[in-house]
Amino acid sequence: MTAIEARDVVLSFGETPALRGASVAVDPGEIVAIMGPSGSGKSTLLHCLAGILVPDTGEIHFDGHRIDTLSEQERSMLRRDRFGFVFQFGQLVPELTAEENVALPLLLSGARRAAALAEARPWFARLGLDGLERRRSGELSGGQAQRVALARGLVARPKVLFADEPTGALDSLTGEQVMDLLVTSAHEEGTTVVLVTHEARIAAYADRQVIVRDGKVNALVGA
Ligand code: ADP
Ligand code: ADP
Repeated sequence: MTAIEARDVVLSFGETPALRGASVAVDPGEIVAIMGPSGSGKSTLLHCLAGILVPDTGEIHFDGHRIDTLSEQERSMLRRDRFGFVFQFGQLVPELTAEENVALPLLLSGARRAAALAEARPWFARLGLDGLERRRSGELSGGQAQRVALARGLVARPKVLFADEPTGALDSLTGEQVMDLLVTSAHEEGTTVVLVTHEARIAAYADRQVIVRDGKVNALVGA
């Protein structure tokens, strides 16, 4: 059984076709990079896989269940309980400390504050963030902020981590450090990863790369 899969997904924004029959299947524990030029439909495909957008036609399957037919509320719970997210610009809450940001998914799932912070803290050592637990996230460097965002994406031990240009705002060395940590952590946790990037150097960290062009997944590159 695949971990997450799109089958022949079509989606338009008004008159603009974004996906024209896109299919991709990701195995449990696999790290797949979705590559392709700007505007080709990478983010839209990721948003469909993650249950954020609903395809016009086609199907999304997660862990043996079709999820595109779920209600908005059911998809929201699925995202909260089973999926993790990392975005290009961290999207940390600047007024909160780094450890509070990491703990957020647990707090949103109803964990008590002390328990959530206790779960959050080991990630600081794992991701080379020792000593930054109490730093307000608005005061972190770009690379530190993306590592905090990665910890937040993984802290609830999601089945699938969705990462949309997670290193896009970083210089290449810092970006590669973040990817190294992402890949190492995901493999350790057995987390499936769907990564969107337009950078070949970043995609090279994945187990497998797929190329999106004109709204279709039309090429495979073994890795
Ligand atoms: P990529 O991630 O590969 O850059 P996107 O999935 O963001 O591509 O976009 C695919 C196409 O859909 C583009 O033509 C883009 O302009 C369009 N698009 C994406 N999101 C929206 C939106 N919310 N409203 C209208 N058009 C959109
Ligand atoms: P990405 O780098 O992920 O492709 P973009 O900068 O293309 O992101 O888009 C950022 C946000 O704007 C996304 O949520 C996307 O859905 C939306 N978007 C992209 N293109 C359009 C568009 N033509 N009209 C409206 N919203 C868009």
